Amino acid sequence: WGAPYFRINEKGNMAARPHVRGSYLSEEIDVMDVVEQAVKEGVSTPFIIRFPEILRHRLSTLQAAFERGISQTGYQGRFQGVFPVKCNPDPYIVEDIVKHGKQYNFGLEAGSKPELVMAMTNMCHGSADALLICNGYKDAEYVRLALIARQIGLKVIIVLEQEEELDIVIDVSKEMGVFPVIGIRAKLCTKHGGHWGETSGEDGKFGLTATEIVRVVNKLRRSNMLASLQLLHFHIGSQIPSLALVDEGVSEAAHIFCELELMGANMKNIDIGGGLGIDYDGSHSSSSSMSVGYTLEEYAERVVSAIKEACILKNVKNPTITCESGRGLVSHQSILIFDVLSARTKGCDSLEEFGVCLESEGWPKELIATHKQFSAHVRSGDFGGALEDATVLKTGGARLFKAGQLSLERRAVTEKLFDMVRNLAIQKEQSRFSCYPRKDYLTDQDAADQVATYHMNMSIFKSMPDSWAIGQLFPIVPVHRHDEEPTVRAVLSDLTCDSDGKIAAFIGQGGDVGASKCLTVHKLIPKTPYYLGVFLGGAYQEVMGSMHNLFGRTDIVQVTHKEGGFEITNVVPGQNIEDALLTMKYEPQLMIKELKNRIEESLRLGRFKNQFEADFVGEFLASSFKSSTYLTRDYRDGCA
Ligand code: PLP
Repeated sequence: WGAPYFRINEKGNMAARPHVRGSYLSEEIDVMDVVEQAVKEGVSTPFIIRFPEILRHRLSTLQAAFERGISQTGYQGRFQGVFPVKCNPDPYIVEDIVKHGKQYNFGLEAGSKPELVMAMTNMCHGSADALLICNGYKDAEYVRLALIARQIGLKVIIVLEQEEELDIVIDVSKEMGVFPVIGIRAKLCTKHGGHWGETSGEDGKFGLTATEIVRVVNKLRRSNMLASLQLLHFHIGSQIPSLALVDEGVSEAAHIFCELELMGANMKNIDIGGGLGIDYDGSHSSSSSMSVGYTLEEYAERVVSAIKEACILKNVKNPTITCESGRGLVSHQSILIFDVLSARTKGCDSLEEFGVCLESEGWPKELIATHKQFSAHVRSGDFGGALEDATVLKTGGARLFKAGQLSLERRAVTEKLFDMVRNLAIQKEQSRFSCYPRKDYLTDQDAADQVATYHMNMSIFKSMPDSWAIGQLFPIVPVHRHDEEPTVRAVLSDLTCDSDGKIAAFIGQGGDVGASKCLTVHKLIPKTPYYLGVFLGGAYQEVMGSMHNLFGRTDIVQVTHKEGGFEITNVVPGQNIEDALLTMKYEPQLMIKELKNRIEESLRLGRFKNQFEADFVGEFLASSFKSSTYLTRDYRDGCA
């Protein structure tokens, strides 16, 4: 999944290759070095590392793929992409795309009024020929803003998502005296069945049916505005799994495009929407919902061919091809880094902590007999037999305890004996990368109980909302210690007070393509941080993350390659406690004032020793508003 941008280097750390050329070593950035440098500079976990060079590489690769498809097929039109800002509206990302996309006339796509004004501002610095595509539901104000964009010289196309929007466009454009360029979003019957296909097919939320498209054309003709209709848009859903589906959707849309031209519209652009998928699980397979069965080059070639074939059939001039790829453009350029705060495991390694053992005096006879049998089974390596004995010991311990014949301490010994032998049995029988043991004397529950819980210093609801909402899998990998064997099978749980705040499905490991129920990780080392990275999460996750438990946006560290290493070029602070409260319309300054008044009152009531202590507490409270919403762990104090 990481190719060509990520790999594990000789030090056992994750490495990023921002330029994807030259030799690995001279061009690589050691991700662990970046993490350590960022932490040294005061960045607190969790944080995002951004690689602007990877973003630029994605942009030029997308452009090159379409240009190659165009030259290979002898297509007579050009390619001109736009970036859908909803995918990641981070100012640095949008600015970078506009700046580096200038050479390709790369533009932006907006789907709402705030996105439109943001896109307008950014595009003032872009190419004069770049397109600004206006999608999403519209009111008169949206249309007015789009027409103002046209007045200030931007190449704006207003795409009708619903038939009713046409009346608004006609009225507002007449009132402003601005000629609108209009597109139509078609509702295709091509349906994408995956997680991301809800917007496609005849029951999809957006777009116009064939009947509605014909009515729009007739109305534009009656209004003498048919020349304003210049673009046909469709979007069959994100993460399109196969080339067959690309072919079906693009062909259907290309025929609509040609028909519109033949009906007298002034058709210039076909906008194929988003949908270019990402190989999240590395399987490169169209049957996995976390992957796609094509390369970027194959995708582009198929799009170009399908449009060309329809144009030949209907004898229509080849249009400019526009794509609104979001996921394909920005997924790779960031890594979310978080540390593990502590681990919880079932079972224990030794009985010594209880200060009792089964050989000592006073144990009921029946338990002693079972224990002898148990010891014999362990000695002969028969873990199936030993586990049966341990089960008898545990249930016997519970029964005798209830009857008042066993102390709590001794009951605990029987429980721990059971956990220990089960641990041993599982370690013996379990295949290295599977959560589930092969031997049938061990149940799934036995195996599940062995899985540790690693507590992550992050919020899934903030940083990986699709993991919670639609069960999306992202590659999650330690960023260091790959030269050590990972021996712990773990699920991950986040900081929120929400039982959904956990990850218990992972990309299969050891060549296993399917989802795995646990992640194989390293044992935590006391007083040493353990960092994991979430890769390929640069699309949608940041903007869709919510403020659950008031965990705020994380810091962002921008990193670029420098001869022999890297440079942190920018640190964008995330939201501190004050910022998080402000998003909910609290007034932090008033809150501090109120709390300080309460401290003064408490001082008068004798709850503080003296004024000095009260002032100290007041200052601590005020300064805490400026601190991270996440946990800050001083590793000198050790990690559980
Ligand atoms: N265009 C439209 C209209 C969309 O709805 C979307 C996302 O769903 C996109 C473009 C971006 O899609 P993707 O991220 O799959 O490229």
